[in-house]
Order: sequence, then C-alpha cells, then structure tokens
Amino acid sequence: MQPTTTRESESLVEERDALAQLERQFTGESRFAERPEGRAVVTARGLSRTYGKGDAKVHALRDVDIDFTAGRLTAIMGPSGSGKSTLMHILAGLDQPTGGRVAIDGVEITRLKEKKLTQLRRDKIGFIFQSFNLLATLTADENIVLPLSLARRRADEGWRRAVIEAVGLQDRLTHRPAELSGGQQQRVAVARALITRPAVLFADEPTGNLDSRTGGEVLDLLRRSVDEFGQTVIMVTHDAGAASIADRVVFLKDGRIELDEDRMTRDAIYDTIKNLEVPR
Ligand code: ADP
Ligand code: MG
Repeated sequence: MQPTTTRESESLVEERDALAQLERQFTGESRFAERPEGRAVVTARGLSRTYGKGDAKVHALRDVDIDFTAGRLTAIMGPSGSGKSTLMHILAGLDQPTGGRVAIDGVEITRLKEKKLTQLRRDKIGFIFQSFNLLATLTADENIVLPLSLARRRADEGWRRAVIEAVGLQDRLTHRPAELSGGQQQRVAVARALITRPAVLFADEPTGNLDSRTGGEVLDLLRRSVDEFGQTVIMVTHDAGAASIADRVVFLKDGRIELDEDRMTRDAIYDTIKNLEVPR
C-alpha cells in the first residue's frame, strides 16, 4: 500500500470536516423541521410604538404582550389604523419598537445589530406581501430559491420538490412573473417563503390583491403549510373568511389587543369586527 502523502491526508481531513459540517447542517435542519408544537416561536413583551412628537404623537402600539406557538396559524385583525402593520413589522424585525422586546426562536431581535438582524431575517423569517414582490427578471423557479441563493445555500432537492408540488407550480417553473396570473405569482411567493423552512412566516394581507377564488387557493396553501409542514404562520387580514382558516384570531384596536380567541367562524369574526369598528 502506498504511503499517504501529506497532500492526500490534508485533503482527507478537509473532506471529513466538510462531511461533519454537512451532517451538523442536516441534523440541525431536520430538528428544525420537527419543531415541537406548544413552544413559543415568537415572543413579544411590553411592545409600544409611537410616531411623531407632542400634540401630533400617535400611539400605534400600547404595551402589547403576545406569544405565538409553533405550528399554528394566527390571524391578526382590527380596524384600519389599529396597529396591525406596525405589530407585524416589529415582530419581523423590519421596524424597532419604542419600548419592549421581541424574541424569535429564542433570539432577542430587538437587541441585534443590523447585520445580525438581516441574517436572522434571512434564516428564520419568511414574508408574503400583498403585492407579491417577485423579481420580474427571474423565472418562477429562480424566484423561489432566491433566499437560498442570497445565503449561498443549496436547496435540499427533496424539500424543493415538495414545496413546488404543494404550491402546484411544476409546469410554470420557467415562466417569469409577467407570464403568471396573480394567484400563480402569490403561489410563487408562498413557495419562496417556505423554501428556507423559516421559524415563522409572516403574511400581510396575502389575499388583498386576489379575487376570492385564487385568494382561497392561497389560503388553502397557507393552511396546508401548517398542517403538513408544521409551519408557524402569522397573517394580517381584513377578511373574516380568510381569518376563519386560522387556529387563533387576535383583534387589535387603538394599539391594544382587544380580543384573542381560538378558532372562530366567519360569522363570529364578522360580528366581532363590526363591534370593534363602533367608536368608543
Ligand atoms: P393598520 O395596519 O392596522 O391599519 P398601522 O399599524 O399601519 O395600522 O398604523 C397604526 C397607527 O400608526 C395609525 O394611526 C397610523 O396612522 C400610524 N402610523 C403608522 N405608520 C406611521 C408613520 N410612518 N408615521 C406616522 N404615523 C404612522
Ligand atoms: Mg396595515
């Protein structure tokens, strides 16, 4: 047997390290996927947010405490101006609260510097916007894997296929956004949000630009991501029908949580909204 050269043994060591790293990644990811239910993935304490000063001061959020449990779909509702977007942006690390703190998957994001926060958002948070926000020059497939490309990570082939199949885009992968319907574009956005297996997926009025049928398809998809993949989803919506697919419905009014209920029917949600809209 030939003695191993220094060069060969070095490359063996490198290879072993690479394998160990892969294994850590792999086991890390599979534990990630089996996130146990009942654990709070998002925790917010004493959140407040004001805009402006003096007489013009607006209290968008007032001392909000809220937790979001793994593997559940929560709808956030409330009249226009009640603080829904402010809450969601702060929970997702897109805006800083005036007071209070937020932790995602055990990491306090309200204390992170910009670079770490960007990294955490990329690794742990998925977003779906009302206006889809796809890149026009990329194909559907390229849009879906974009978060991984940006992080210089490769897609796990099995997961990528599962996600594309779940959103039903198998035969649209080479299309660009302009060649897709609104519903198809939003399904690309859902796949893009799921591809990194985020700790939490935020959706701001995900059906706001869709007709009721395609909106319903996107809602089904969000529901299935919770039931089949154990995804944690927080969705802001105006629509009682959309909120009726949620496991929990949180109602805001004047920057405070007014009501926090498990599963509600469309009619019960509708009545609650009507009551909240009555000025005090
Ligand atoms: P919602 O999403 O429920 O409609 P928002 O969170 O957008 O409510 O807004 C809550 C309150 O904060 C509103 O009174 C709104 O006018 C105010 N607000 C939101 N963003 C700003 C801003 N950038 N500057 C000043 N006031 C703001
Ligand atoms: Mg809003």
